Amino acid sequence: MSTLATPSLAPKARVCPSCRTGQLQVSHRERVFHPHGETLVVALLTSVCAHCGAEATSSAQHDENLRRLAARKGQYGSLLMGEEILALRRRFGLTQQVASRIFGKGKIAFSRYESETTYPDESTTRLISMAIEKPDTLKWLADQAGIEIALWGERCEDEQRVKVCSITKVYDAAQSSTKHQERYTASGTAAKLVGNFSKIWSSHVVAIRQTLTLTEIRNEASNQGQIAQQALAS
Ligand SMILES: [Zn+2]
Repeated sequence: MSTLATPSLAPKARVCPSCRTGQLQVSHRERVFHPHGETLVVALLTSVCAHCGAEATSSAQHDENLRRLAARKGQYGSLLMGEEILALRRRFGLTQQVASRIFGKGKIAFSRYESETTYPDESTTRLISMAIEKPDTLKWLADQAGIEIALWGERCEDEQRVKVCSITKVYDAAQSSTKHQERYTASGTAAKLVGNFSKIWSSHVVAIRQTLTLTEIRNEASNQGQIAQQALAS
């Protein structure tokens, strides 16, 4: 059994948004996965009100949780994480049942893959991975099953736009967003925050490239910049 965790982010004490009396205290909840039959525990950050027990997750905690969840991929090998399968399905506007039909699986197969109750067998894993890498595969499978892909048209247009604006530009956007923060690096704490921001950002770029359009990527870059600035200002 292995546990993936890094030190807790320690935000300033915040007043509970539910009761407006108690203070939020950093807490953890665990998500357990079983890739290759191993037990893998990911400790996720949240905050719990000492007064009323309400739970609230800040955006910094949410980003850190995404990073921790993505980090478990190192122990998956070619196995797909539930989020990767979910991202493919959402990208093309497919319901779990429709996705199961496209891949020739039983009705609840995708629901089980996404929650990682079970993992797809080897040949299905390869097919889904291929569909993630080469959407034409998904289109071919859907055609074979007589299924229309809801967002096929939209995603083809995105592909064209991304080709015009090469991926270098996406990285440039990420870089300039990070550079924007560099003037804050004078103090040690700020340097650390900027470091965290860069790490979060690079994992975002990978996730974003798979699911979002270029405009959405730019918005995300600006959001991330604002989050980092708020963190630095506090
Ligand atoms: Zn409360």
